Amino acid sequence: RLVSIENNDLTEMASELSLRPQTFAQYIGQEKIKQEITVYVKAAQDRQEALDHVLLYGPPGLGKTTLATVIANEMQVAVKTTTGPAIERPGDLVAILNELEPGTILFIDEIHRLPKAVEEILYSAMEDYFIDIIVGQGETAHPVHFPLPPFTLIGATTRAGILSAPLRGRFGIIGHMQYYTEAELTAIICRSAEVFDTKIDPRGALEIARRSRGTPRIANRLLKRVRDFAQVSDKTTIDLEIVEYALNLLRVDECGLDETDHKLLLTMIELYGGGPVGLTTLAANIGEETETVADMLEPYLMQSGFLKRTPRGRMVTDKTYQHLGLINPNQQE
Ligand code: ADP
Repeated sequence: RLVSIENNDLTEMASELSLRPQTFAQYIGQEKIKQEITVYVKAAQDRQEALDHVLLYGPPGLGKTTLATVIANEMQVAVKTTTGPAIERPGDLVAILNELEPGTILFIDEIHRLPKAVEEILYSAMEDYFIDIIVGQGETAHPVHFPLPPFTLIGATTRAGILSAPLRGRFGIIGHMQYYTEAELTAIICRSAEVFDTKIDPRGALEIARRSRGTPRIANRLLKRVRDFAQVSDKTTIDLEIVEYALNLLRVDECGLDETDHKLLLTMIELYGGGPVGLTTLAANIGEETETVADMLEPYLMQSGFLKRTPRGRMVTDKTYQHLGLINPNQQE
């Protein structure tokens, strides 16, 4: 899958960093969240307080990590980044919290994967800036009270619903990340092309945007691949022709669906007559983790009308049959 091919490639990571917007002005889209947070940032700055804790949720690649760094930049405070699964024991969290300067932003990606024991000590840290833990064992065990500097926790998760209620309730600001429009993605692609010092024609940029599943991370990744094709074919500008040629070769179709999406939809049609079929069964049939299907594949397929959720499971739609060039045997006349 395109999304995971170059995860460990250091040069890709370096270019990823240079593509990251630094300010609200450079951060394209997510207008509602941006508008709200701009107000809270300004109010917190005027009062010289730490910003309230922020929860950002939505599918991967929509700009949660980027937004956290933009907020830190705008607040002019440091940001410390970690992930839920990396904080294994309460002691790990204490070590992180202990090092925070007043006002610092602590960004925890995949916050739904924090171990329960760690999550529990986060409650008082978030609410009243202290932690109480038991140090030592047996006879020598005693409680220790750690006061903390005021800080801002920014948590990111794919679905707000998988967070426990006590944790969710401790975030004062909750932002639901939306898929980007074609116009927003086109703007992101044009800005990235500028960073790469590559010329792109507006129709080429729009075509990449159309096939990017509403997701900036995918838009940037496709742009990089198309740029390689353009370079090898001695094109000085990325135009519609080279975009179509490259993306067809990469098997990213006109709606942005790739081979895994096609496999999922075809499996539903061929093995289950179009559904309904349960998420776990479906994931097992296409050899993907249930979480991958739920977080990465399904949300876009639903948003774009290729899949619908019913009480008895997932079902494909008329649009799916049409898109795959198949006849829907169940279609009503
Ligand atoms: P998430 O944390 O939601 O998985 P990231 O913040 O890592 O997503 O974003 C993925 C990439 O997409 C970033 O490297 C950045 O280059 C780009 N990106 C995300 N959001 C925007 C945006 N609003 N404007 C421009 N580029 C963005």
